[in-house]
Amino acid sequence: MAKITFIGLGNMGGPMAANLIGAGHEVCVFDLVPDAVNELTGKGATTAKSAQLAARNAEIVISMLPAGKHVIDLYLGEQGLINVLSEGALVIDSSTIDAASAQKVAGSLAQHQIQFVDAPVSGGVGGAIAGTLTFIVGGSKSEFSSAQPILSAMGKNIFHAGDHGAGQIAKICNNMLLSVLMVGTSEALQMGIDNGLDPKVMSDIMLQSSGRNWTLELYNPCPGVSDNVPSSNDYQGGFMVDLMKKDLGLAMDTAIKSHSSTPMGALAQSLYGIHSSQGHGKQDFSSIFKMFGHNTDK
Ligand code: NAD
Repeated sequence: MAKITFIGLGNMGGPMAANLIGAGHEVCVFDLVPDAVNELTGKGATTAKSAQLAARNAEIVISMLPAGKHVIDLYLGEQGLINVLSEGALVIDSSTIDAASAQKVAGSLAQHQIQFVDAPVSGGVGGAIAGTLTFIVGGSKSEFSSAQPILSAMGKNIFHAGDHGAGQIAKICNNMLLSVLMVGTSEALQMGIDNGLDPKVMSDIMLQSSGRNWTLELYNPCPGVSDNVPSSNDYQGGFMVDLMKKDLGLAMDTAIKSHSSTPMGALAQSLYGIHSSQGHGKQDFSSIFKMFGHNTDK
């Protein structure tokens, strides 16, 4: 069993760290929020006063932070972990960040003989709790092999996407597609409702027809169609609009750099931006469905 330091114990990181403890690893945790730390120490983790102290004897460090600037600061900043990790240690960053930041951290750590993989996840908070996340890994073959047994305590599907940064690129391609599917599913369901159809009946029909997709099947955005999804819980929990907005920003930056044409992604970015500015930033991303509802006097 490995000595693991886990940094960033939010909606995703908290349950991921708990699964590592459950698998028998020796886990030391750190977060800026004391309550998040206490929850994990209550489950058997140790902690320390700073990220550097928490990582001092670690064989493996895992981070699950909001954005690229937090990841760069954690590893390369003034109090950066690069200064305390030993040669041969492995860093697994599971945050969703831009590929360039992941490559920058990988390059700097490599100069100290510290291994790195970017390993963003898909599967949401439900997947983090159940230990069924999909990990999309960027790094060398040997780094991937070192990370695999650790990731398998937190996830079910573990893909090697390519070299450093490739995990992040694959992840944002996926989330750009997800946003487009969510918007399309929402407008189609609302058009059915506007024409007198029952959204449950509409969903059943489309699930057996060519419009079938993940959002319709497992994350239906129309309240009351499916149980145990954010739309049936006032769009609480799940994957926040503001995080989707962040990912679509990363997708558009990537598209500009690679001269890729992404008109659907650009439209989804615009719609999620408007939705967030209308006060829905903290709701689940399926709440975009509400944008298409209207009160008519017809
Ligand atoms: P969150 O905001 O709930 O958690 C982030 C945690 O990081 C917080 O507890 C915060 O206190 C901590 N943190 C920030 N800076 C820190 C620092 N310098 N040192 C220590 N701790 C620090 O976010 P989340 O929902 O857990 O998402 C984390 C990452 O996972 C994001 O990049 C997000 O895009 C990605 N992600 C989220 C989901 C989801 O469904 N929530 C799904 C897939 C990927």
